[in-house]
Amino acid sequence: MDFSLSDEQKALVQAAAAFSHAELADHAARWDADSFFPIDTIRRAGEAGLLGIYVPEDRGGLGLSRLEASLIFEQLSQGCISTTAYLTIHNMVAWMVAKWGDEALRETWVERLVSGECLGGYCLTEPGSGSDAASLRTRAIRDGDDYVINGSKMFISGAGANDVLVVMARTGEPDSGAGGVSAILVPADATGIGYGKNEEKMGWKSQPTRLISFDDVRVPVANRLGEEGEGFKLAMQGLDGGRLNIASCSLGAAQHALTLSRNYLQERKQFGRELAQFQALQFKLADMATELTAARLMVRHSAWRLDQGDPEATAYCAMAKRFATDVGFKVCNEALQLHGGYGYLREFPLERMVRDTRVHQILEGTNEIMRVIVARRLLTDGMIEALQ
Ligand SMILES: Cc1cc2nc3c(=O)[nH]c(=O)nc-3n(C[C@H](O)[C@H](O)[C@H](O)COP(=O)(O)OP(=O)(O)OC[C@H]3O[C@@H](n4cnc5c(N)ncnc54)[C@H](O)[C@@H]3O)c2cc1C
Repeated sequence: MDFSLSDEQKALVQAAAAFSHAELADHAARWDADSFFPIDTIRRAGEAGLLGIYVPEDRGGLGLSRLEASLIFEQLSQGCISTTAYLTIHNMVAWMVAKWGDEALRETWVERLVSGECLGGYCLTEPGSGSDAASLRTRAIRDGDDYVINGSKMFISGAGANDVLVVMARTGEPDSGAGGVSAILVPADATGIGYGKNEEKMGWKSQPTRLISFDDVRVPVANRLGEEGEGFKLAMQGLDGGRLNIASCSLGAAQHALTLSRNYLQERKQFGRELAQFQALQFKLADMATELTAARLMVRHSAWRLDQGDPEATAYCAMAKRFATDVGFKVCNEALQLHGGYGYLREFPLERMVRDTRVHQILEGTNEIMRVIVARRLLTDGMIEALQ
């Protein structure tokens, strides 16, 4: 068992850290304050290869593993959590189109997604179906060589700026459950698509979140990813990697919070001593680092399992997402506490980091749903034995 990074992986980490410093870190506070979606920066991420990290090389991507994607997102999120989180969703969309689109769809979209010419959105959640995603009601009814889509999607990241959407819609009967869902690629400016207001959120302010409505939106049947009725499975496969990506954003946030805390404890004096000399605060720092290290090991281990095609990868990804996003939020919140009143001021980054990491416990499946996924596996077959 070798936990060290290869020279190539270390180089990736360095390159991602350089991009994070040069393009994200200095702007994150302003983007948050202004709710500004930095499309030009996102396009520059495309020029650096960061929009198709695990898209195969012959499709213009970097062709890297999920483990390497995790290393990259961890570095990027140290610069801006919210913008990096959007990059992770875009990467998931680009990968889904590259993996399950037919040749014509790939030709039309993948290189444009990878370069950043086009931005992608992932549309699963609806106003009436969040955790119970398989109960979604958006319909795609076949009419000749087209699907006609009606319904609405809630909380869509990047909506309004996205150029193309992967829409999970019901092609089967209304009560057909997960097996009646198909994944369909829809140009974001198709006739009949409407956008709600940019939601006012607690965090993730550097990316828009909107409701999208579909009113007789017509797209060719050839825009379907995979087979009819396979869409829910594809959506969940996309989310295995997506959850690791969000978890990696939490790791980066926690690492940044830890660095800021160490620096602050060594600078700030109270009772005639540096805060770093109080053992209670030293212990807090030690616990933050210990939990971050455990979370990082879990994320990388789960990414490795996903890369190996392990049949239990979904459960491992769910465990890692649950644990790492809880740790990420907790470490940022502890760091805010270590900064005292200054941690609560906008002038310092901690309050933004707490707001940004909070949503990681909610989206791409809430942390309760991560427990549902893990528990279901534990209770149905020999996974407890396989855990050893
Ligand atoms: C900022 C933001 C961006 C998002 N971006 C996207 C996006 O780009 N694309 C997309 O498709 N979706 C997106 N989402 C949606 C997100 O994935 C959902 O909000 C999430 O899955 C939860 O669904 P819900 O909000 O409907 O909550 P609900 O499902 O209504 O859950 C409410 C509460 O009940 C709990 N709960 C529900 N069922 C169970 C159960 N069986 N056991 C235990 N507890 C349960 C939940 O954990 C939660 O605490 C985004 C959300 C946010 C906030």
